[in-house]
Formats: sequence, structure tokens, C-alpha cells
Amino acid sequence: SAQPPHIRGLIDRRAKVLGPGYQLFYSNPVEVSRGSGVHLYDSGGNEYLDAYNNVVSLGHCHPAVVEAVARQLSVLTTNTRYLQEDLLDFSERLLATFPAELDRVTYTCTGSEANDLALRIARAHTGNAGIIVTRNAYHGVTAEVAAFSPSLGPTSPLGPHVRTISAPDPLRHGDSVTDMLRDEIRSVIEDLQRHGFGVCALVVDSIFSSDGVQPFPTDLLGILAAEVRTAGGVYLADEVQAGFGRTGAGWWGFGRHDVVPDLVTLGKPMGNGIPVAATVLRNEIGREFGRNVRYFNTFGGSNVPIAAASAVLDTIEREGLIDNAREIGGQLLRGFTEIVAGHSWLAEARGAGLFLGIEVTEPDSTEPDRALAQSLVDDLREHFVLVSASGPQGNVIKIRPPLVFSAADAALLLERFAAAADRRRA
Ligand code: PMP
Repeated sequence: SAQPPHIRGLIDRRAKVLGPGYQLFYSNPVEVSRGSGVHLYDSGGNEYLDAYNNVVSLGHCHPAVVEAVARQLSVLTTNTRYLQEDLLDFSERLLATFPAELDRVTYTCTGSEANDLALRIARAHTGNAGIIVTRNAYHGVTAEVAAFSPSLGPTSPLGPHVRTISAPDPLRHGDSVTDMLRDEIRSVIEDLQRHGFGVCALVVDSIFSSDGVQPFPTDLLGILAAEVRTAGGVYLADEVQAGFGRTGAGWWGFGRHDVVPDLVTLGKPMGNGIPVAATVLRNEIGREFGRNVRYFNTFGGSNVPIAAASAVLDTIEREGLIDNAREIGGQLLRGFTEIVAGHSWLAEARGAGLFLGIEVTEPDSTEPDRALAQSLVDDLREHFVLVSASGPQGNVIKIRPPLVFSAADAALLLERFAAAADRRRA
């Protein structure tokens, strides 16, 4: 729909001051002035149901985080070169949410930095360079990490040491998906070895978010990790999106796959809006790196982000948000599955907890329909519901609300989605 004049004015000003590469959501971008719980508000006072923002997983402006950050800012903010008991308290609690083998944590400010560091550690440990990722993966912005983030597209080429495998896609691959991926990873491992790179790491987002949200099959990651380990590499679970309870099955997305990674990276929801991220690892994996490298990250592990992260951990536990993600996620999946059954151009709803994907396709087919998916996203935005689309063909509606989403919020989302689908075609 047409952009109102004040929105056009903001877009013009933005183009005059912001650097290159920025993007906006929606053909009619949303100007937000305030957030609270599961809602965003524009300057005209309109209320939007936020079914997309996973950073504020406790809800926008959760008072526990606001208070913890304000308190900490007024007491102390310094870095890891001092002995800080708050950092140790938090680290002990964070590591207690992981399998016992994952027993060390290093703090960064962003998921990209966490992946960058994890890769340096993996390279030092394995002595190899080769990296394996899925075909439309995203892992971050640094030059190192962009080199293994194929979703950035052909203008951001992959490194010569990077190979891709398919993401699982049971809708199109059927039951043979695990066998197919085992064959693919064997062949890229062989190729990396033949080119002298060897195998350093398999890096996988545990829910395959930018690959189109693929929660199944759950026997897959253990099998891929075993292949990589046999070849001398390690398995890095990128939990930047899947982590902190989002999948409703424990704290970490890899847990659904019944495999313990060698390294895990965390970010986005970790501070509910405060930049805080981390690399968690098995102690022995970090030894070689630690012998040779000094790692100091000015803000990583500093008091204020740790106070935010600590409040997030407390709140997830106190408000039972992992259980909520499972229950409300189940309600949404049942509802979306019903809506999908009523439209020939919706092929599938899938999800784990509060991370769901809905396939928009040509009628009675699995052929992606990007334009239709985009028009659905824009239509929902005009009706004050915020979602987005993902996947290699941009045709998978991605639903990823704050973990505090209630049964009533879920019912409203389903009602608006059904109406938007009816407005498109039967
Ligand atoms: N990994 C995944 C799976 C992500 O989704 C993102 C961010 N979209 C990153 C890493 C990078 O995190 P950040 O933007 O905090 O650097």
C-alpha cells in the first residue's frame, strides 16, 4: 500500500545519513516509537502484534531487564581484567544449562563475534581450515564469518575453504533427507581434503532459520557431527536464533537433536536487547588457542550486559517461558496446520516451540511462491501483525514471537493470518 508522507520523509532522511547496506522491513515500513510486552507502537498510537522479534524474548522492555541494567549502570561498569563475582555467578548458572562437557564460556557483544571467535578456536584446535555450512545459512557480519554465510548472496562470495550442503527440507526431500545429507557431507569432506583444507568445522544454526526454518528430522545433526569428527573437525552449534528456550524443548536447539556440540554460540535474546553474546566450548577444544592468543573484548563480559543476561536467565526460569514456548507454539502449529489445509497454495506449517515456518507455494505444489509470501507479510503488516519471510526462495513465512506470547495473542495471530490468507485466494 502507499506510504504516508511522513514515512516517505523518514525514508529520505535515512538515505541521506545512513551508510550502505541497510534494509527496511515491509513495502510500507513501520515507524516504531515504543514497545511493551508483545506489542510495538507507532507514533500515531497504533498497536502492532509482534510475532517476529526474537531478541526481546521476554517481551519488549521487560521490567526485570530494565531494572537490572539501570541498577548495574549506577553501581559499576568495567571489564574482565578485574575480578568480578557477578561474571562468575552468571557463568556458573549459564554453563549449568548445558551438558557437562561444555564447561567454558567466553563473552562477546554480538553473535557474529561469537562465531568469529569460535572459528578461530576451532582452527587452532584442529589445525584445519575447511568449513561446512548449509546452503542458505547466515552466521554473521565479520569478514571471516561472512565468508561462510551463503545467504548474503553472490555479491558476498564464500571463502575458498568453505563448502555447502543442503539444509534438510522434508517437504521436498521426503524420508530420504538424512541419507541424502550424509552423502552430501561425505562428498564435501572429501573435496575439502583433496584441496588441502582439511576439515575444521561444521557450523549449523540448530533450527536452520535462514534456510527456511527446518526443525526436522531430529536425528540429523548427530549424524553430520559424527562424519565431521571422524574427519578431524568439530561441530559448532549456532544457537543465536534457536537458543534460550525458543524451541520449547529445553534451553538449546541442539538438544532436540540429541547431540552434544564441541562449541556453541549464543546471542540475540541473551540480553533482551542489550548486546551480549558468548562462545561456549569444551575446555580441551580451547587449549591450543589459549596457549597462543590473548583475547580481550572490551564490552564482552562487562558488568552491564552480564546484569542483563542474568535477568534474562532468571526471568525465563521464573516465568516458565520454555514451557510457554512449547505450549503456545503447539497451539500455533495446530492452528496454522488447519489454515494450511484450507488453502491449496499453503503447503506446510512446521515448527518447534515459538519458531514456526509456513510454506507459501504455487497451488497444489511445492514450488515456492515468493511474491505471494511477500504480499501476505505486507497484508498482515497493514492489519497490525508483524511477521517476515525467510528461506532460499523467500517463500517461508517466519513466525518467531517473544516467548511471553499468550494463548490470546496466539489466537489473535491465527485469526489475522487466516483472514489475510482468505483475502489472497482460496
Ligand atoms: N547466527 C545466526 C543464526 C543469526 O541469525 C545471526 C543474526 N541474524 C548471527 C549469527 C549474527 O548475530 P549478530 O547480528 O548479533 O552479529
